[in-house]
Amino acid sequence: MGTVERWSNWSGSVTGTPRQFFKPQSIDELARVIGDYGRAGRHVRVVGAGHSFVPLVQTDDVLVSLDAMQGVETIDAAAGTATVLAGTRLHMLGDALHEQGVAQENLGDIDVQSIAGAISTGTHGTGVGFGTLATQVEALTLVTASGEILECSPERNADIFKAAQVSLGALGIIAKVKLRVVPAQRLHYRSMSKKLDQCLENLEQYKRENSHFEFFWFPYTEGVQAKFLNETTEPVSASNLWADFNKIVLENGVYWLLSEACRLVPSLSKTVAQISAQSIASIDEVNYSYRLFATPRMVRFQEMEYNIPAEHFTTVLREIQQCIAQQQFQVHFPVECRFVRADDIWLSPAYQRDSAYIAVHMYRGMRYHAYFRAIEAIFRRYNGRPHWGKMHTRTAAELATLYPRWPDFQRVRAELDPQGVFLNGYLHSLFGVDEAAITDVPPSVGTDLSRPRNLENAHE
Ligand SMILES: Cc1cc2nc3c(=O)[nH]c(=O)nc-3n(C[C@H](O)[C@H](O)[C@H](O)COP(=O)(O)OP(=O)(O)OC[C@H]3O[C@@H](n4cnc5c(N)ncnc54)[C@H](O)[C@@H]3O)c2cc1C
Repeated sequence: MGTVERWSNWSGSVTGTPRQFFKPQSIDELARVIGDYGRAGRHVRVVGAGHSFVPLVQTDDVLVSLDAMQGVETIDAAAGTATVLAGTRLHMLGDALHEQGVAQENLGDIDVQSIAGAISTGTHGTGVGFGTLATQVEALTLVTASGEILECSPERNADIFKAAQVSLGALGIIAKVKLRVVPAQRLHYRSMSKKLDQCLENLEQYKRENSHFEFFWFPYTEGVQAKFLNETTEPVSASNLWADFNKIVLENGVYWLLSEACRLVPSLSKTVAQISAQSIASIDEVNYSYRLFATPRMVRFQEMEYNIPAEHFTTVLREIQQCIAQQQFQVHFPVECRFVRADDIWLSPAYQRDSAYIAVHMYRGMRYHAYFRAIEAIFRRYNGRPHWGKMHTRTAAELATLYPRWPDFQRVRAELDPQGVFLNGYLHSLFGVDEAAITDVPPSVGTDLSRPRNLENAHE
């Protein structure tokens, strides 16, 4: 236990100064201390790798980190499962699974998140045959506000399990997860330049014929970077200097310089988007899946991403294209497009619908509010559900209409945490929980309780 001076998330959009920092070494210690905090009426948030863009983990009371609770406990390759401590970072998990000949079936485009943080916001990769990362969870161990250790799965505490798979750290602290894993496989990765028209005309074919397909469209251009990944029996490519140079030097070093130029002179954005579209590299590489899904992301940005029903994808992207052209937003970052299978997790943006995800980004330090707002207005018209870890302005009332199981989630949350130990200002507002409705527990002698400060809307 200790204090932290100041905490900041990856993008710098959220900062805070927790009063206390708690880094448990074991599930028993976690449960005992959380139980004490709960009884004392303290407020607790849990942080993974801090890669969310919104104030999910902001607190001025207790911040818990599971950094000391990392590692794979067991792997049962025959059953296709792995039991993993919840603080484990995805890249570490990838290596540990690989040593035993297994892998996660899919990942997003970075691998620095903690497994619990990634599943808790509905983090996803791409591929119409794959759900979000939370769909890989077969069971989880949850530490509740009363300090109880609950085992949850489709067989035990089934409702809590469906609520907890994507739960923003609002039901309790996930201490352990049992993941479904697949035999380690090599993928053939191809990245190439295409035209937007060509991508949209062949969209269904690309989605159907490739295990993992995604593309990045550069504003003010017809240029697209298309990425295809497919299973292969080919051997791992010999060291690929061009691919490494492209990922590190061009996509990060040179892109950072161009981005700084845009920050200093925003009117350069259109030109930089055009230069980027013309510089898309062709890459051909074979490697194990977990080494290919993720790429280094050193250039920092702000992001908004929405899930929309897959059938609206082309219409929505065309509207975004039109909106940028009409309003001349100064943006050079590409628009990222991915595809994900429907699931049955109560707060998953892909709940009961095959989905497309569209993400817009803005370089850190550049103005993003007007751009994100205009694009969000388009997502709204097509039943868009925001990515929980990224920026949006949706209210509790709106979210309730977008999620059929919203009331069930709120019921489970209120049952597990009637005093709102795990709520901060952002979650109060996101869930529409009336602070007066929270059963207050008198602080124990000597605890100087302070409510987390009310958080501003992420867009303001
Ligand atoms: C550069 C970059 C690239 C990204 N790429 C993708 C992508 O490809 N696909 C995608 O979908 N998203 C992506 N994201 C978003 C990111 O995956 C999510 O925001 C994810 O939640 C971050 O994980 P984290 O470990 O940093 O969690 P944090 O941001 O620290 O926390 C996220 C949430 O999880 C909760 N949480 C953390 N640990 C626990 C626990 N043990 N028990 C219960 N709750 C917990 C927190 O309280 C919080 O509500 C990206 C973000 C960045 C910055």
